[in-house]
Order: sequence, then C-alpha cells, then structure tokens
Amino acid sequence: MPMKSTNLTLVDYTEITGSAPIALRTHGWRAKCLQRLVRLDLPVPRTIALSFDAVRAIAAGQVLNMNGLMSKFDAGQLLSVRPSSENPDWGGPGALLNIGMNDERHAAISERLGEPVATALYLRFVQTYAQHVARLDPDLFEAREPSLAALHAALRGYEAELEEPFPQDPKHQLAEVLRSMARAWEGTSARLLRQAKGAPAEAGLGLVVQAMAGGFGTGASGAGVIQFIDPVTGVSQITGRYAVHGQGRDAVSDNPQAMYLRRDRRGPSLEEQHPDAFTQLLRHGAICREKLREEMQIEFTLENGHLWVLDALKVQRSSRAAVRVAVTMAEDGIITRKEALMRITPRGLGELLHRQVDPRGKRDVLARGLAASPGAAVGQIVFSSSAAQASAARGEPCILVRRETAPEDIRGMHAASGVVTERGGMTSHAAVIGRGLGLPCIVSASGLRIDARARELHTGRHVLREGDLITIDGTTGEVLMGAVDLLEPALDAPFSTLLDWADELRDIGVRANADTPADARIARGFLAEGIGLCRTEHMFFEDDRLTVMREMIFADTSKDRAAALERLLPMQRSDFIELFEIMQGLPVCIRLFDPPLHEFLPHTREGLRQLADALDKPLSEVTRRAEELAEFNPMLGMRGVRLGITMPEIYDMQARAIFEAAIESARRGAPVVPEIMIPLVSAMREVELVKARIDAVAAAVRIEKGAALDYRLGVMVETPRAALRAAEIAQHVTFLSFGTNDLTQMTYGLSRDDAGRFMSYYVQHGVFPEDPFHVLDAEGVGELLLIAAERGRRSRKDLTLSICGEHGGSPESIAFCRAAGFDYVSCSPFRVPVARLAAAQLTISARDAQNTMPDLR
Ligand code: PEP
Ligand code: MG
Repeated sequence: MPMKSTNLTLVDYTEITGSAPIALRTHGWRAKCLQRLVRLDLPVPRTIALSFDAVRAIAAGQVLNMNGLMSKFDAGQLLSVRPSSENPDWGGPGALLNIGMNDERHAAISERLGEPVATALYLRFVQTYAQHVARLDPDLFEAREPSLAALHAALRGYEAELEEPFPQDPKHQLAEVLRSMARAWEGTSARLLRQAKGAPAEAGLGLVVQAMAGGFGTGASGAGVIQFIDPVTGVSQITGRYAVHGQGRDAVSDNPQAMYLRRDRRGPSLEEQHPDAFTQLLRHGAICREKLREEMQIEFTLENGHLWVLDALKVQRSSRAAVRVAVTMAEDGIITRKEALMRITPRGLGELLHRQVDPRGKRDVLARGLAASPGAAVGQIVFSSSAAQASAARGEPCILVRRETAPEDIRGMHAASGVVTERGGMTSHAAVIGRGLGLPCIVSASGLRIDARARELHTGRHVLREGDLITIDGTTGEVLMGAVDLLEPALDAPFSTLLDWADELRDIGVRANADTPADARIARGFLAEGIGLCRTEHMFFEDDRLTVMREMIFADTSKDRAAALERLLPMQRSDFIELFEIMQGLPVCIRLFDPPLHEFLPHTREGLRQLADALDKPLSEVTRRAEELAEFNPMLGMRGVRLGITMPEIYDMQARAIFEAAIESARRGAPVVPEIMIPLVSAMREVELVKARIDAVAAAVRIEKGAALDYRLGVMVETPRAALRAAEIAQHVTFLSFGTNDLTQMTYGLSRDDAGRFMSYYVQHGVFPEDPFHVLDAEGVGELLLIAAERGRRSRKDLTLSICGEHGGSPESIAFCRAAGFDYVSCSPFRVPVARLAAAQLTISARDAQNTMPDLR
C-alpha cells in the first residue's frame, strides 16, 4: 500500500510487492518491471518505488518522510537508487550505489569483511556523492585506487570544498540523493535530450530505492550481467560477465578480471565455479522470456552464494536481432504473430536490406547530408562516372562524389558502391536512382566542396583526393573518414517468415518501381506484386542505345525519326519480354517516355565532339541542335505527354514494343495484360489524342500477329490540373497513379532538384514540418490526391488508384493511401519489404481498433 508520509510532505512511496499499485504511467518502467519480477518469485531485494508525482514534489523542494522510508529497511542496510521513467530510452540520472556508507559502517564492515573491502565501498560512495549530489568538481574526486589514504583525502577534500564534513546520517544522504536526481531530471539539457528521443515535455521520472545485496562477502560474492541472445544477430546465446566482489554494471563492463558466464576455454566461468547460481540464472532467464515476453538482460549479484536479481531490462538490439527475436518468440508461442509484426519498425526492417555501419565502430564524421538512400558503403573517392567504371573494372569499390548526378551518370552509379552529391534533394536524380539500385546515397552534403578539376574533396578539416577511402552511411546521411567496419545485410529466414505473416494480413497491394530486368528481379525477390512504374527512359542509357537515341533526337524529319525509332524498337521489345517473363503474369505498368530530350545529350564540349563523330555531323550542327533543345525550365517544358503529342512516333514505337512483347510473352507461356501509363498529363484532350494512337497501334499489331491482345491505359497524375480534372480523365482510362514527386514539385512550385539547398533550414526553423519530397504533405498534396481519387472514382467506379512517387514506400504515405481506399502503392524494390510490413501493421491497428482482428494462427 502507498504510505502517505506525515508532517512535512505530500509525497508518497510504495514498497514493490506483487499487489502494490505500481503502474508504468505513475512509477515508470523499472518499478513496473521489478514488480513483475517479484510476481514471478524472482529473488529481488526489498525495493521502494517513488512515483512521478513524488519525484516532482521533491524537485519542487518538498521533503520526504525519511523516517518512514528508512524504516522499510534494516538498520545499517546500504541502499541504491535508480531512475525509472516511462520509457528506458528516455535516459535519466545514473544509478547511485552504497548510500548509507559512513564512518560507522566503515568500521563495522572492516570488522566483518576486512578494511580493504570497507574502504573500497566508502571511497566509491564519497566520490560519486561528491560529484553527482554535492556537484563538486569531478577532477577533485576522480577514481583512485582504493586505500585508506585515498579515502581520507576524499573526505578531507569534501570538507574543504563545502566547509562541512561528509554527511554521516544515511537519512540525510538518501534525501540528498533523491533531491539531486529529481532536479537533474528537470534540467534543461536532460529535458532536451529526452525530447529528442520522443519523450513528451511533461514526462515524469520515478525512482527506485533498493537494498544493496551482495557484491562483497566472505563467501561467494560478486556482481554480473547476463543476457540470452546475441544483441547483433538475435541468435540465442549466453553473453555477459561476472566479477568477483564487483558492484554494479560498471564492475563487469570493460573489466579484464571479470569471468565468463558459460564454460569457456579462455578462462574461468560462473558455470564452473558456482554451478547452482548459473542454473538458477538460466531458469530466471527462461521465466522472464516466457512471462515478460521479452529477451531481458538481468543484473544479478551473489551474496555469500545466494543469488539476487537486482534489475532486468530489455536487451538493446539491432534491427536484425529484433526481427529474429520477434519471430522466434511467436514460433515458440510466447507472443502472437500479430504482436511479432507490431514489434518491428518498418524503417528498422529497411536496415536489414543493406549493409550497415557497425554501431560498435568509431565514426569520424567528415560531412552530413540528406540520407537519400539507406545502407553503407566503403570505397575510394572518384569524381566522374568514367573513373567509377574504371575503378569497378579494377575490382576496387568506389564512392562516386559529384556536384549532382544526371542521367548520363547512370553507368557510373551502377559501377559505384555509393554516391555522394554536393547538391540535390530527396527526389533528385541521385536519390531516386540510388534508392532504385539499393545504392547508399547522400545528397546535399553540407560541409563538402568538390574541386573536380584538382580532383579534390574539401571538408572543413581535410582535403581528400581521388583514391582516398571514405565510408558513407546512407541511413544517417553521414560521410565518414576512412574504411569503417560494416555489417552485412540480413535477409535470413526470420526476415522472410515475418514478411509472409505480413502478407497474410495486409489489405493494400505493394508493387515495385523497376526500370530494368535487374530491378525487376530484385522486386520479385522481395515478393512485389507487380511493377507499378517502369520508367522506360532508363532503358535508353545503355551504351549501344544512347547513340541511336541521340540519332533519333537529332532527326530533322519525322521519317528520319521513325528510322531511328525502328532501330530502338527491337531493343525495347526485348526489354519488355524480359520484364514480363521475370514478373510471370503479374501486372507490369510501363510509363511512356517522360524526360526532356536534352537529358540525353552530352553536356561537355568533348562529349559533343564525340557525338558529332558518332553521328557523322559537323560539331557546329550538333552544338546548335543541343542549344535548340535547351529550355529555361525543362521540368515544366517539353517532356512527358507533351513530347508524346508533338513527336508521336516515340510513343507509337513504345506501344508497339509493349504489344509485341506481350504477344511473345504469352506465346512463351507468361501471359500478361500490360498497363501503359501516360506521364505529366494536365488535360483530358492529351489523353484522348494519345489513346487514339495507342489503340491504332494495338489494332495494327493484332492484325499483323493474328493474336489477341488486351491492355490497360492509365494516367500518371503529376500536375495539380490532372488531379482537379480527374473526373473527365478517368472516363478514358482504367487507372490513375499518383506521381507524387512531380505533384509535390508542382503543388509547392518547388524544384525537386534544388530544394535540398534550403530544405534543412526550412525544416529546422519549422517553416515546413518535414521535407515534402520525403514525407507526403498530407494537407496540400494529400488534398489533391483525395480530390482526384473521389472525382475519378465517381466517374468510373472500378478505377484503380495507386501512388508511384518516392513517397510510396514510406509508412506515413501508405497509411494515407490505405485510408483513401487506394489499391496499391509502388516503391523502389528495396522498400518493398518495408511497405509490406507497414501495410500489415496498418491493417492490424485498424482492425484492432474495431475489435475485428482474428489472430493469425
Ligand atoms: C513522380 O513524378 O512522382 C514520378 C514517379 O516520376 P519521376 O520521378 O520519374 O518524375
Ligand atoms: Mg514524374
């Protein structure tokens, strides 16, 4: 029962028993966890919990009924105090041990256990009390080898600083410890730190006061920490240490004297020396796992051979370990599959798909930018795509460092292990391609300056040259000096099992954006349910095709253009056949040509000269034509459907390639109904014109091949006008797919390639809550999505709706699209697993809210 203190105080304290009113929201996680351990009959020393309200009152100056509190413990009992906030990740003041040590206890313990033991305990207490409670200069009380002389020096030092002797009354000591911890929690930096970890402003701190057990004694005594999994892999394995005559966690971490727990060839172990205690620990671990339904780390002591459990907390673990633990626990029947799915954060799952910087390694950060594509890579710096290709040919991993990338860098990006750009945003070229390839990428890296001519990379502190090694962490956006150790991806059995469970539940489809057969294979490997966006222009950047493509661009007449396209036709057809075969009858949505033509032209004089050679035309003519194609605002210019209408031969060729491939695929046993998507539409008439030509091509192919052919036509909604006019557009198509990259760009009037320059400033200063190219702007862009979905479905009930912009893979956008009744989301292949899990979690939460969720087994 809570004991209201008398006289001076309003605050209360509660002994932790099985039935005491202890709750997470009032006393914090540690108090609650200790209560669970007590209920499981684990040998927990007597513990008193102070509630959040009590600690707040102490911080405000109220005084606890110390006589009442001290009467709960035996006279002369040493005590510890530990923090207990609502979430262990929110931090809190460090534990304080050995409260109650004074001259009298020193004499008594000296007599019982010997002077060195008593002195070590007392000295440690004086040092921590002086630093953390009396707030004296740490230099004066830094850790020293325990000796009577050191103890006397510390006591004298304390007295000299405070002009009063070290407090001898245990009540007074404890009251001061509680007060200093309560105040530390209220401090500004502690508050900011925990808020950065997601704690609310009003988060409270509870404290637990515990009888110190063990550590020192004439019989077997010491302290240890045990856990039952490897925190990096999650594989079942006993790790931890035990230190004879140790106290607290510090005694075992980094202590070369500490012994192993399980029998080990390298040295003595607890299992050999105290087999009973070891067996009991295994039993306690198993009970915790089963009843607390978690992998716990247990802090224990031995006191003359008697085992005490002081504390237990959830094992800190990598995402990979989290997946294995959740799946194993569900398979063992400890938690349900639904719970296993809910325990993994989708973004954490994303980390398993890529190499990661080993969290145990040292990080020397050279620069920070936007974390545009997750995963880590180590490689030598190269400044050009050709250098990247040369490096790959030598078998040397490299990091491509560019001011920004352009379509012509695609082969360099394929060759590189990672990409860093000085400029750009979350949907700029490097970011989109990086995510598509699963290539770690950092854009808008502030603090870097590229001197491409000198082949140097300048950071605030260093000048790096081509060939120097760096590591990039695309998950955090950090560029690191040198080669840092990496962890390999973990696409193991637990990963697949978890996602199979997710698929059984989710009620929104997940497709992949895949431009090439290689992308499609990855997408299929991650069990995407089709391709939601194939950006066909990426197929034209291969060496042999680029030249033909450029011939097509340079054609003066429609006839010359058709001739060049005739040569591109078989290449496109074979690409599509391969895609259809890989996807084995799953839907494949092919977007017709989208980018401005000048993206295919070289941008340097040397490149133009080589092109003139290849086309057998004078350099002046090639330069003039390139200049003609230049636009002030190419992203708002001659691209997408506008190109399709003014140069219809391009779309004719692509439609024919798609249809002929579909017929060939059906002949080979992989029938497919291809989906053709028109980009950058803003008016219904554009759709009518393109549809008429595509229908005509389909009719011609049917007759030529004598084969049946079906296809679906759709529009990519990327302009606000297309969203507003969705009702009339929907009359001509069977699906609408939202290209939220361009739609965000056009709704905000914000260049997706330049926004990176000021986006962090904007977000840091709260102008925008988030980068809208990263997190879907539900209010503005989202409203357009809802308007278009509603208008489109009103005019055509069976209209398929989807999202294929980069937002498609983020859990927030999936929630939005699911709530809006979309049929599927489409995202980069490497985000498919993340989307599958996020979608399942949404279904679970939604159905749980309605109480309609059957368990999965
Ligand atoms: C989009 O605009 O959202 C889209 C998917 O197309 P792209 O990124 O190729 O412009
Ligand atoms: Mg677009």
